Amino acid sequence: MRQAEIRIVGQGLAGTLLAWACEAAGVRFHLIDPGHAAAASRVGAGIINPVTGQRLVKSWRVDALLGPAVTAYRFIERELEVPLLRQLRVRRELRTVREQEIFAQKRRTGELDPYLHPLPDREDAFLIEPVFHVDLPRLIDASRQRWRRRGVLSERSATAAECSGGDLPTVACLGAAEVPWRRVVLERVKGELLHLEAMAGDAGLTRGAGGSDEIRNDGHWLLPLPDGAWAVGATYDRTALDLEPSPGSRELLLASARRLGGDAGWRVRAALAGWRTSAPDLRPVAGWLPGRPGQGICNGLGSKGALLGPWLAQQWVDHLRDGRAFDPAVATERCTFPG
Ligand SMILES: Cc1cc2nc3c(=O)[nH]c(=O)nc-3n(C[C@H](O)[C@H](O)[C@H](O)COP(=O)(O)OP(=O)(O)OC[C@H]3O[C@@H](n4cnc5c(N)ncnc54)[C@H](O)[C@@H]3O)c2cc1C
Repeated sequence: MRQAEIRIVGQGLAGTLLAWACEAAGVRFHLIDPGHAAAASRVGAGIINPVTGQRLVKSWRVDALLGPAVTAYRFIERELEVPLLRQLRVRRELRTVREQEIFAQKRRTGELDPYLHPLPDREDAFLIEPVFHVDLPRLIDASRQRWRRRGVLSERSATAAECSGGDLPTVACLGAAEVPWRRVVLERVKGELLHLEAMAGDAGLTRGAGGSDEIRNDGHWLLPLPDGAWAVGATYDRTALDLEPSPGSRELLLASARRLGGDAGWRVRAALAGWRTSAPDLRPVAGWLPGRPGQGICNGLGSKGALLGPWLAQQWVDHLRDGRAFDPAVATERCTFPG
């Protein structure tokens, strides 16, 4: 095996996409990851929704980033020969008068084009399209098998010396993992979701417009999974210190499933919790740490990892291969402390 040009520490979504971008560009890499025990990418729903939040805003830079993200996932699908990306739509229910006013105003100004699609005779709901779902567990597992076979993956924790990048340029893609050598200030927000099975037939689910290619969203969302099950999510908890699924979130999310999908006899298959990591300004982070040219990071994907990950990975590869500068919006100086 030829010597790696770069070490990637962490094979969650960020590390996986970086490794794929390296592979596509012919940059030799070596990955280290012990197996995702607390990875957000094991939990995250993988939805790419161009219009989010109560204020119905376009996701940051979505017009520029959506097309390249789709191209990147389609490339990986072809290489792995497994389906990873589904095109869906969101039926967004507007629960408050305030939300309906925001919708009416944004419809007039056209600022949510081309994603906003009004429903005939409805002011309290509209469609968002195109929306995508990335099967994150499958992406990570299938990629891991490939790189294990190729001998470019070490299934263990990285050491502090490896992460310092002294011997080999190293990019830490560690999400919320607490490591002693961490010099990046990232905020953590706990998120929970449930995987559900619908045990009883339900009018809303079986006869509703769109069937299984429609996500329903009224602040929480109900997502049809590729295997016929459903996911409902997600909570935001800025104060939590643990990663245990909580009884309160379970009740809240079950109520959301009933509201969005009817009383389908929901059975909880799994309750999942993970950390979202964000820089204080909510923008992602990529580049070398200030004053440490061999020690890089790729992090801060927040709740938009599926959209932002391919862009960050491409920036890394453009930098490594062609010396191109990183976009100033992702600069590491914003959230590192000296040391
Ligand atoms: C409830 C919830 C719902 C979400 N929904 C969505 C969504 O719908 N759409 C979306 O785009 N995003 C969503 N997200 C966010 C998305 O999941 C994250 O942005 C993304 O998974 C972050 O990936 P990451 O690679 O940065 O971190 P992680 O997935 O946490 O990966 C970090 C990796 O580092 C490894 N690691 C840790 N320590 C070491 C060490 N010492 N040595 C080597 N490796 C190590 C871990 O094993 C892990 O694999 C959601 C998140 C949550 C919590």
